[in-house]
Amino acid sequence: MRSILVTGGSGFLGSHLCERLLERGDNVVCLDNFFTGRKENILHLMGNPRFELIRHDIVEPITLEVDQIYNLACPASPVAYQYNPIKTIKTSTVGVVNVLGLAKRCKARVLHASTSEVYGDPTVHPQTEDYWGNVNPIGPRSCYDEGKRVAESLCVNYHQEHQLEVRIIRIFNTYGPRMDPNDGRVISNFITQALRDQPITIYGEGTQTRSFCYCDDLIRGMMLMMEQDQSIGPVNIGNPGEYTMLQLAQEVLRAIPESKSTIEHVPLPQDDPKQRCPDITKAQTILGWSPEIDLRTGLARTVEYYRAELARA
Ligand code: NAD
Ligand code: UDP
Repeated sequence: MRSILVTGGSGFLGSHLCERLLERGDNVVCLDNFFTGRKENILHLMGNPRFELIRHDIVEPITLEVDQIYNLACPASPVAYQYNPIKTIKTSTVGVVNVLGLAKRCKARVLHASTSEVYGDPTVHPQTEDYWGNVNPIGPRSCYDEGKRVAESLCVNYHQEHQLEVRIIRIFNTYGPRMDPNDGRVISNFITQALRDQPITIYGEGTQTRSFCYCDDLIRGMMLMMEQDQSIGPVNIGNPGEYTMLQLAQEVLRAIPESKSTIEHVPLPQDDPKQRCPDITKAQTILGWSPEIDLRTGLARTVEYYRAELARA
């Protein structure tokens, strides 16, 4: 039986991953500092004898014996990662050195969760893995974007210098149940606003685009990437269905027809990328992976989750 470490395991994506790995029969060590993670996300796993939870910060070294490591530890919402930018940089640099060092010592294979943010405000559309990106190194998003770029470089160099088995995926905007209702990302904001009949806050004119992947599709792609046999450089994982934020707001209102929310435009944050859409040819070719859940289906499932969450709160 394999032992698998999931850093950031009590966060949105990490909790889904822990669940899938347990279903497959693995031993799962979930490590989290609970900055944006929540115990509610993993409560249902706590009774499983193959599940173990460690409160730890990857910025500090740790000694464990594991066969595989999924490194997801890092706040992902702009509000969260800009709360303490230096800590965010440490997590993606010092933290990633600690994770890769751990992997080197116990000869574990590592999958690192990188991001479409390495492309910054992209001038190539849709984004292919060979595009080097357009990142403002001193802007408010740089603690996350540049941190993730250093993390990719660390992964590649540990592979070249120490023959570490590494896989890098670049995750495009992913949503679904267990995304913290207060985490400030667009889908959680729009749905909770619509359910509370509050104005839907569109940043700027709402013509900027994003491409939204449902969490189950993403986790399937992530696990396929880990299990394939080669360290083959970064692979985009995302859903190429591209929407403006105005279109997204309409889709959310369509999913919550009783909502009395109106649309409100508020200032656009600095350096907000204008367009984003993954080219997933590489994932399709190497992993045989494509997303299966379209935005309407995914939104309907996500709305049900937030309805229950708000009722509980
Ligand atoms: P999330 O904020 O819900 O989860 C991140 C988890 O990491 C949280 O549980 C948090 O407490 C934990 N964490 C943060 N810093 C840590 C540290 N120093 N030590 C230990 N734990 C720490 O976000 P998510 O959406 O689940 O994202 C998971 C990963 O996927 C992140 O690395 C993120 O950058 C990446 N990603 C996510 C998306 C997306 O759209 N969801 C897109 C691109 C990349
Ligand atoms: N956004 C918005 N209203 C919100 C939150 C976000 O219009 O309440 C916009 C934001 O400006 C960005 C897009 O939605 O253009 C996605 O934002 P998010 O924070 O979810 O992710 P990221 O910008 O990191 O892709």
